Amino acid sequence: MFTENELKEIASTFLKENYEISLKIPVIRNNRLRSTLGRYVINNKGEPLRIELSGTLLTYGAKETIIGVLNHECIHYAFHKQGKPMHDGNPLFERALAKHKAPSTKTLKVGKFYTYYCERCKKPGESRLKRLVTHCDDYRTKCCRAKIILTGEKIYNGINS
Ligand SMILES: [Zn+2]
Ligand SMILES: [Zn+2]
Repeated sequence: MFTENELKEIASTFLKENYEISLKIPVIRNNRLRSTLGRYVINNKGEPLRIELSGTLLTYGAKETIIGVLNHECIHYAFHKQGKPMHDGNPLFERALAKHKAPSTKTLKVGKFYTYYCERCKKPGESRLKRLVTHCDDYRTKCCRAKIILTGEKIYNGINS
């Protein structure tokens, strides 16, 4: 959907307009990033290295979702540059996120999920684990330790969840 150049352009504009900062690091796609949708990476000397967005976000995320996560990472960068508290959860940082309508960390659901229900109590569930589909018999539900009945898949884009 977005190329790395387009992402960098969006980030540069956001930083210039809101923080009067120019973006001096690359914005890259990271297909191995699974624990989070995006991250701001610094080296061990505390210098900015790059902004990464996950392949999952860029493949499945809605346009607004992608830009929201990108702006979130930009705010980390801006706060770092300006010597402000740059960590998730800090009230000042969270206020800046809210001001720019950027999501807090871990609040978005994005990607392909496999849906199922519990054979015994029929409680529905979903999982990102692909192994659930290929090795369904290896798994049991948490509720009843019963068989998992797969029903299909659902795509979340960060807006429809
Ligand atoms: Zn963050
Ligand atoms: Zn159950």
